[in-house]
This record gives sequence, structure tokens and C-alpha cells, in this order.
Amino acid sequence: MLSTMQDVPLTVTRILEHGTVVHGRSRVTTWTGDGEPHRRSFREVGLRAVRLANALRDGLGVSEGDRVATLMWNNAEHMEAYLAIPSMGSVLHTLNLRLPADQLVWIVNHAADRVVLVNGSLLPLLAPLLPRMEPLEHIVVVGPGDRGLLAGCRPAVHDYEELLAGRPATYPWPELDERSAAAMCYTSGTTGDPKGVVYSHRSVYLHSMQVGSAESMGLTDHDTSLPVVPMFHVNAWGLPHAAFMSGVNLLMPDRFLQPAPLAEMIESERPTHAAAVPTIWQGLLAELTAKPRDVSSLKRVTIGGSACPPALMKAFDEQLGVQLCHAWGMTETSPLGTVALPPAGVDGEEEWAYRITQGRFPASVEARLIGPDGAVMPWDSESAGELEVRGPWIAGAYYGGAGAEPLRPEDKFSPDGWLRTGDVGVISPDGYLTLTDRAKDVIKSGGEWISSVELENELMAHPDVAEAAVVAVPDERWGERPLATVVLVEGSTTGYAELRDFLATRIARWQVPERWAIIPTVPKTSVGKFDKKVIRKSYADGELDVTKL
Ligand code: AMP
Repeated sequence: MLSTMQDVPLTVTRILEHGTVVHGRSRVTTWTGDGEPHRRSFREVGLRAVRLANALRDGLGVSEGDRVATLMWNNAEHMEAYLAIPSMGSVLHTLNLRLPADQLVWIVNHAADRVVLVNGSLLPLLAPLLPRMEPLEHIVVVGPGDRGLLAGCRPAVHDYEELLAGRPATYPWPELDERSAAAMCYTSGTTGDPKGVVYSHRSVYLHSMQVGSAESMGLTDHDTSLPVVPMFHVNAWGLPHAAFMSGVNLLMPDRFLQPAPLAEMIESERPTHAAAVPTIWQGLLAELTAKPRDVSSLKRVTIGGSACPPALMKAFDEQLGVQLCHAWGMTETSPLGTVALPPAGVDGEEEWAYRITQGRFPASVEARLIGPDGAVMPWDSESAGELEVRGPWIAGAYYGGAGAEPLRPEDKFSPDGWLRTGDVGVISPDGYLTLTDRAKDVIKSGGEWISSVELENELMAHPDVAEAAVVAVPDERWGERPLATVVLVEGSTTGYAELRDFLATRIARWQVPERWAIIPTVPKTSVGKFDKKVIRKSYADGELDVTKL
């Protein structure tokens, strides 16, 4: 028997219309460095999004299904693109400005982007690549920048404000199928070509509801959220659309992502929430220790993208009174997968034990662990396996290219359609996920597994260790052994033996690394995660100064 309910499509258009009217007074504030921050109400942002849609259609000939790329920082104009492009039935394609040039070119060509909206400050990055970006027909420059760099380029060049000027304040939004493409994002794959994940209107809408809900980020129009996570990194973890849906004020950092300006914008604009990867919070902690600022407005900070060291979480709690809330996700999961809010009725050590997990799954994300022999493992906090997930905002395939079938590589999707995350961990009986590793980062030592993440967390609990990354290196006797690479706090003279003895008090002795290297900084990926393949390569090439204890 069918229900008697209406079947209304869930679309970004609805988010745009709702936010513009009902939350018209909420604001997007964009940091400008030394100048006065730039403030725009949701009403203005919404109306400008309507004008942008008209400009794209009438000025540039963009139609439904066309890909429109952005190469932009987090700012109000990017927000306008986030709303306008999907609502008109086109596909918002956010480009990761930190990718190597060849990958950026490959991605633009694969997605067949017809238009790119680019911040003027990023023209030095884009201009030299244009001859190789064949599908691009139009470049829309947003904000100041050296437009001379575009002289003689093939695509037509437009100014964002000039393009919007005088455009109508209404748009005949198309009736969209909620399953149609709204946005796309390529994973910065470590092997092979990057893979495109295409989000639907339905997935964006449902994900936005979850992001806002109390069991995830719990945000309302009383809040101001600071997404430090870039809008090209899984749609800034869904915050822009979720914010427009619920009227959450946004504080956009633009290109000012260094610890000092972040500290300054938190002190002066007083956000209640922020989101970023652990390396950003490491940097901010060091900054605030050297030069204290008032960051007491932050009620909760969402931290994820890579494992949050418990020591960092404790330092924020104890030194700053700010609660870091751990969350897990990936490009393929929109990204919200788990959030580590402790259950009711726990406190003290028990509460900490929950907070340092990756968190628990919302109802819409189903999870299972697949053990080494392919069996589904129990949720008993002990049986480890590869995490597989499914749900309405989890990818079921990758973009195959225009006209091509979607891609479902076997290593990424199970025969029954679940996403293979490549993450290894355990789940507690009450549904909290603890990741021990990426499948490819696990250290297989003499038939036992050593968790690189655990070693890193324990090392980073030492007061003289600023950062630590542990990788597997070949070992004649054990197959693989851990190599610990450590960044010491400035001025520290702590030696390897002391670090080894410290670890030996905290983990099983056989897991303590014999190989050590002090390095100036841990190499990072384009989205700020530890880049372990670079460390492995430096080791293999004999470039690391390794001490064996
Ligand atoms: P990306 O698609 O670039 O966002 O990368 C997703 C991957 O980041 C996941 O598969 C995990 O390996 C890792 N990751 C994300 N969040 C966490 C977390 N809280 N703890 C550990 N690893 C994480």
C-alpha cells in the first residue's frame, strides 16, 4: 500500500528560497585581512544568487546539466555560487586550489567545465593552465586581481560584479528531479586518476538537515559558524547549505587561513562554532599559547578529516575551555559519517573515552565492518575490519565522464553496493566507531597489526612533540616495522631514547618503533592531512636521517 503523503522533491532551490526569506537577517561575513570585514545578509546573498543564475543563463548561455566550476576561497560570492548553480539545474564543481597543476587540468577536462568562477587572487594559479583546459568557454573573475594575466587567453573573460549588474531579481527555477546532480567534487586520490563524486539535490538536502541537527553540529540562527575547512573540501563539510537552511550566520575566512588571522577573527567576530582539520587547530593552539586571545565564544568545534590526537582535544579543553568534537567522513560520504558526542549519563574518563572515538553514526548512515576473511565483524569494540557504509548521502559510484557509465571499481564498492571506505577500525556495541588506520597505512609486523594512528596519538601526547607521523617500512625479520617521524616543539632538545621510553610506558613494548627521524615539518596533502606517501618515498629514497635504537 502506498502512503498518502505528497512527493515533493528535496532541492537546493528550496534551501535558497527558504534561507533568503525566513532567515533573511542572518549574515555572511567575509574576513578581509586588515580592512573592515565584508557583511552581507542572507537576503542579499539570496538575491545576488538569483542575479547570478540569470547572468549565467542569459550572459554565458549556461543551461541545465552544465558544469560550472569555482576556484575560490571561502567567501560570500562562493556562497552565492553554491546556491545559484544547483538551483538553476547546473552542477557546481568546486576545484581544489591546492592540487598539483596537472591534476587540476585533468579534473576540469574530465568534468568538462564550461565556466569557471575564480577569485582574482588565484589568477596566477589559473592563467598558465588555461591553454590545457579545453572545455572552458568563460572565466568570471571575482574580486581584485591582476586581470592582465588573462590577456590573450581563449575563454571569454568577465567581471563578476559587472555580469550581475542589472540582472532580474527573479528566476524561473526549473522543476528538478531530486536525484539529479547538484554539485561535484573530485577525491585527491593517492593512486590512479582523481575520482568525481556527484552529489544529488536530495543528498545535499538530507545531509544539510543532518549537519544542522543536535546530534551532529546542532546549529541554529543563534549561531555563527566559521568554516575554516575550504569550500572545495567536500563542500566545506556541508556547512554552507546547512547554514542557509537553518539561518546559521557564517564567518568566512577567505584566504586568511594562517593561525594569526584566524585567532584575530575569532576574537573580534565571536563565532560559536568552527570546523577544520587537526593541523589547523594544532597551529591555532601554538598561536594562542604564544599570544593569548579571547576565543571563549566558541562553544563547539568540529574536527575531522584525519584523526584528532586526544592530546590536542585535551589541550583545547583545559587551556582554552573549547570543546573539540571529533567527526569522521570522506568526499564519498558528503562528508558527514560520524560525530563523537558522548551518550547521556557519562562523565569523567568514560566521557573522554567516547569523545576520542571517531563518533557514532546517524540513523541515515548504515555501517558494517568486513574482517580480513570477508566476514562481517561484530560490534564489540575489539573485532577490527574495513568499514563499509551506505545511506542516502553516500556515493554509489563515481562520475564516468560525459556520456559514459558511472564507475564502480571493485575496491571501492562491494557487490551489494556498499561503499568500501578503506578505513580500518572497530565499532562499540553502542555504535561508536574507532578508526585504527587507513587500510594502506596499517603496519603489519610479524603477523600482528600496529596502528599508526595510535602511535602518533601517543607520541603527540609528549609535551615536546609538535607533530608525529608513523609509517610502515620494510623489515627483514618482521616484514614491516614502524618508522616514527617527529617534529619537535621549537627549542626542545628531547632525544630519541626519551621518546622511546615515553612510548614504552603507554603502548605494548613490541609496538615501540626502533627507527626514528626528527623532521622539520610533516608533509601535508592538499587538504592538510599528513601525506604519508611522501614520507615513505623520502625513506625509500634514503633522504631521511634515520636513527636506529
Ligand atoms: P577525504 O575524502 O579527502 O575527505 O578523505 C577521507 C578520509 O580521511 C577518510 O577515509 C579517513 O581515512 C580520513 N578521515 C576523515 N576523518 C577522520 C577522522 N576523524 N579520523 C581519522 N581519519 C579520518
